[in-house]
Amino acid sequence: MVITGSTSGIGLGLAEAFAAAGCHLQLNGFGLPAQISHLVQGIEQRFRVRVSYSPADLAYADQCTALINDAITTFGQIDILINNAGIQHVAPVEAFPPEKWDAILAVNLSAPFHTIRAVLPGMQRRGYGRIVNIASVHGLVASTNKAAYVASKHGLLGLTKTVALENAGRGITCNAICPGFVRTELIARQIEERALEKGISEAEAEQDLLREKQPSGEFTRIGDIAALAMFLCSQEAANMTGACLPIDGGWTSQ
Ligand code: NAD
Repeated sequence: MVITGSTSGIGLGLAEAFAAAGCHLQLNGFGLPAQISHLVQGIEQRFRVRVSYSPADLAYADQCTALINDAITTFGQIDILINNAGIQHVAPVEAFPPEKWDAILAVNLSAPFHTIRAVLPGMQRRGYGRIVNIASVHGLVASTNKAAYVASKHGLLGLTKTVALENAGRGITCNAICPGFVRTELIARQIEERALEKGISEAEAEQDLLREKQPSGEFTRIGDIAALAMFLCSQEAANMTGACLPIDGGWTSQ
């Protein structure tokens, strides 16, 4: 299987959960070479699975395709693809740097298109495949100052549904998971900025952020996202496709 953006945060949690279930893994994402080899060896030794790593930068179409082709060369086939890599930038539209817009759309939306496009022919030949896109509550609702992220995640849900329809009845499912706030690097800066802006501690800023959006008052746990992804890849989920599933402490129920 391939998991994009799996050197940290949610992607790394997904990698560990699927490795624990016996899946061979193609990892991808940024990081220092020493940290990455430590990560690869750690997962191989703990879970007795084969782990490969690709440094593909998913902002580029050719590198997305190369990631999939490398994984096919290494493992023979790809049964599961999880598009997880994602980036964020926070600013009002009129001050949003166009290069940040382009980068976010490239990584969060175009990269899943390119990886799905490359992985589908093999899945269609074999009549089996599981594609899971890690979207966000921001695929379902908007927040201020996140134009590119919200647009990319809404787009990702559209892509998810289209791929699901085009492959319905062919043994291939495509679903999206829409987490609320998860305590990872991606939101660390938002917490720091909020703490500075309001003159409060980071712990208080965390609670402030959750109070504003996530009624449960709890961060969504990485392990819970991994459990949902594993269910979507199970036999019991064979007839679930095109679903966009929030795991957000009630955020999108408001
Ligand atoms: P993270 O910053 O911890 O991890 C992101 C991963 O993507 C890292 O491995 C990073 O190296 C990789 N990456 C970034 N740019 C890349 C590129 N150009 N090419 C290849 N890899 C790249 O973030 P996270 O919070 O674990 O986010 C994972 C996914 O979950 C993202 O799609 C994000 O939008 C989504 N998500 C996160 C939250 C949250 O609150 N953290 C909420 C909803 C959805």
